[in-house]
Amino acid sequence: SVLLSISDVTKDYPDGNVRALDHVSFDVGVGEYVAIMGPSGSGKSTLLSILGTLDRPSSGSLTFEGQSIDAGTDLDELRSRAIGFVFQSFYLLPTLTALENIQVPMFGRGWPVAERVEKARELIEAVGMADRAKHLPKQLSVGQRQRIAIARSLANDPRLLLADEPTGNLDTVTAAGILELFEQLHSDRKMTLVTVTHSEEVAMAAQRVICMRDGQIESDQLVARSQS
Ligand code: ADP
Ligand code: ADP
Repeated sequence: SVLLSISDVTKDYPDGNVRALDHVSFDVGVGEYVAIMGPSGSGKSTLLSILGTLDRPSSGSLTFEGQSIDAGTDLDELRSRAIGFVFQSFYLLPTLTALENIQVPMFGRGWPVAERVEKARELIEAVGMADRAKHLPKQLSVGQRQRIAIARSLANDPRLLLADEPTGNLDTVTAAGILELFEQLHSDRKMTLVTVTHSEEVAMAAQRVICMRDGQIESDQLVARSQS
């Protein structure tokens, strides 16, 4: 079934007179793993912001789980309930431990403390970082910080995980570990993943690659799996 659908979306930035997205339409199915590629300036970040409802289209429409996103939609509520974000920079809070950082999205949502901590423990385990629960971000390697940021993005059980260059700051080996983690989230948790990337490795890890050019979809293809 369809999780997310954008239809005929155009995004203009009036200052600079830029059309960042030009009549873009596609669906993302529940459980799909999609990579968005394309040259710098082709509209990838704009597209991801619109998919994540961080930015709104100039025209066109967006639906999430069959509900249309419009002026009446409580976007903060939708995002905190349904969408997880992973960025190239992790924005972990420096004075909180790894386990506490994972709980940040759960603050203010009425979780009993014990349940919040239990959920954070489950997630830190899921990203292979259980032995680092009490570490501060500065005591972790960059790859470990990204794992904590990913665990945090899962705190409210999002149906959709959006990632912008999730391995952009990581060395090859560390990046491969994060891709394995995404693969696990996709296969074990049936997570729907949409990631913007410049990296062939990241794109090849996905099931479907959408290539953007000049604000339009240039190609949209399933990734061929090598027979091995
Ligand atoms: P990509 O992520 O593929 O590099 P972007 O979505 O960031 O592309 O940008 C698409 C186009 O929109 C570019 O031409 C960029 O300069 C322009 N753009 C992006 N954000 C803004 C903004 N806030 N104001 C004006 N123009 C912007
Ligand atoms: P990497 O080689 O992946 O970049 P680092 O060399 O930064 O990793 O760290 C190696 C290990 O040491 C990591 O598991 C990290 O958690 C731990 N570590 C790094 N700095 C500290 C610190 N200041 N205090 C405690 N543990 C640390």
